[in-house]
Amino acid sequence: MLEKEELRRLKGDIICPRLDVFDGIHEELEKGTAIGFECPVGQASAELFRKLYEEVTRTTLSVDTCTKGGKFLAYRATYVCHHNVRDRGRKASAKDTQCPWRLHVVSKTRSSMSRISDNLHASCGLVVRGLGHHNHATDIPAALKHRRVSDATEAKLKSLFRHYHSPSTALQTLDMELREEWGEEYPLKAADRSLLPDLSYVYRFVSLSFHPAYPSSHPTVPIPIYACHSKQLITMQ
Ligand SMILES: [Zn+2]
Repeated sequence: MLEKEELRRLKGDIICPRLDVFDGIHEELEKGTAIGFECPVGQASAELFRKLYEEVTRTTLSVDTCTKGGKFLAYRATYVCHHNVRDRGRKASAKDTQCPWRLHVVSKTRSSMSRISDNLHASCGLVVRGLGHHNHATDIPAALKHRRVSDATEAKLKSLFRHYHSPSTALQTLDMELREEWGEEYPLKAADRSLLPDLSYVYRFVSLSFHPAYPSSHPTVPIPIYACHSKQLITMQ
């Protein structure tokens, strides 16, 4: 994470020398501050920023709209809070607070720089701006339980499955690691779905991760034992 001493101010906006977000970034965005990152131009920078931002603010964002591949525009997207459910369907969701928070990210191509009068874009590969406010708490179990499972957690699950864990024992292992790592903070961490998903998610994840084609293309990787016993999962041949 960036230290505040590493930030530079430009007419009220902020320039960061790397994509790392900093403590207090959400408060700055809520105030209307534009934040530029001196990073490579393109979608990958925007997506990496989103993940870092989600981790620090303990929120989950979804892509609402995006444009990419233009002559002067490499990538533009609007992210919305996951408490704003787009496909509401018939059944009301406890997650859906119709949260109005928006985050706009823009990455302009270098060929557009001669046309740019905005100094922030001229020196930064990615510029982000916030709009609105969350209409719910973000650091309570009721909100954390809806977060998207993180890439790091999925990587741990895959590793556990390769070591013959079942979904239940893999989940128990994640739980135990959180207990050991966070001590008194464990209850709040355990409520965070990005760190500790529910069992039904773990079942779905393993069935997708260990697709039937998997053994033949990766013959040296052991097949999880439980996969041979559950009709809910896959039949590995
Ligand atoms: Zn929200």
